[in-house]
Amino acid sequence: MPSLTLPTHQTVALVRSLGGPVEFVDDYPVKSPGQDEVLAKVLYTGVCQSDLHTRAGTAAGPDGKPITAIKLPHIGGHEGVGRIVALGPGLAQRDPSIKLGGLVGIRFSSRICRRCSYCLAGTEQYCQGVEDMKPTNHLHHEDGSFQEYICLDAGYLTLLPPDADPVLTAPTLCAGLTAYKATLNAELKPGDSLVVVGAGGGLGQYAVQYGLARGARVIGVDTGEKKRQLISSFGAQFIDFKQVPDAVASVRDLTHDGADAVIVAAGSSGAFAQAASMLRIGGTMCLIGIPPGGGQILTSVAEIVIKGLKIKGNLVGSLKECLEAVEQVNSGIVKPKVFVRPFRDLPAVYEELEKGDIAGRVVLKVGDDPGPNLE
Ligand SMILES: [Zn+2]
Ligand SMILES: [Zn+2]
Repeated sequence: MPSLTLPTHQTVALVRSLGGPVEFVDDYPVKSPGQDEVLAKVLYTGVCQSDLHTRAGTAAGPDGKPITAIKLPHIGGHEGVGRIVALGPGLAQRDPSIKLGGLVGIRFSSRICRRCSYCLAGTEQYCQGVEDMKPTNHLHHEDGSFQEYICLDAGYLTLLPPDADPVLTAPTLCAGLTAYKATLNAELKPGDSLVVVGAGGGLGQYAVQYGLARGARVIGVDTGEKKRQLISSFGAQFIDFKQVPDAVASVRDLTHDGADAVIVAAGSSGAFAQAASMLRIGGTMCLIGIPPGGGQILTSVAEIVIKGLKIKGNLVGSLKECLEAVEQVNSGIVKPKVFVRPFRDLPAVYEELEKGDIAGRVVLKVGDDPGPNLE
């Protein structure tokens, strides 16, 4: 059996101040797992728009104001896949379901109270905590997957199928889950029409595919030949909003009376403006991307009332929904388009994300896989 020598120091992508640069630091300490923790070696991590906004200091809270209570120095990354390389003291005896060599996910939610009404309802991503136990996440409070080694809470561990592809699973843990949850919120029936605005980006490509998997007829709205090709390859229709005089009219042409649901996966405020007009009577608008500054939906109350529209937002999803989203990728129903790049490309990837250049999702290779046989 190979035994892994764990280093005391590691390479991390560090942000010292919000708005500051990403620096690669090679002497950041590797933590030892506590009593109810595992140490995982990070293999791959996706790069999410929220990481970009948090680093820049432009991530908005529910009041629309910038979120400033962020641990500094900051290490982003909340869609990573790692392998368990060490268990906290006594954990093997207390929880034999957790094994060395197992694949685990590093997600947005890192620690939850398991007792508040949201946790008990299976909506633990909204955990409010009880008494002194406050929930934490890998975006604002704890170092994320842009490091080689990470301690994770054993009680809220994302245990992945042993045959999961770490490259395709990584972006599924945030982008995939968020889009999957939006297709659940859309309450799609087979044959329903679904429009995905921002279809060619990291979130959008998943929303298109999870929508198709639910039997919907999907129309992707985005721009550029790369995105047209990607969306068409999934079997969805495509509207290039820069090539048509009026994207709303194009949607109404293709759906006759407007769509049953619209998922807005774009990160710009402009994308939200027309979404309600793309809907038929009784349609559902599902919001997932958060524009910098919080964003506003420019839709009249009259349109919402007269058309009986529903508006639903969602923040990622639960662990159960995450594992459902992963299962659809693992079984080949959903095939996310990913580009694997070296860990040190992170600053360049942020620049490309800002320009909206990426048709799909970038996954960074953080470390070599020690394999499953570590017992
Ligand atoms: Zn994310
Ligand atoms: Zn809770």
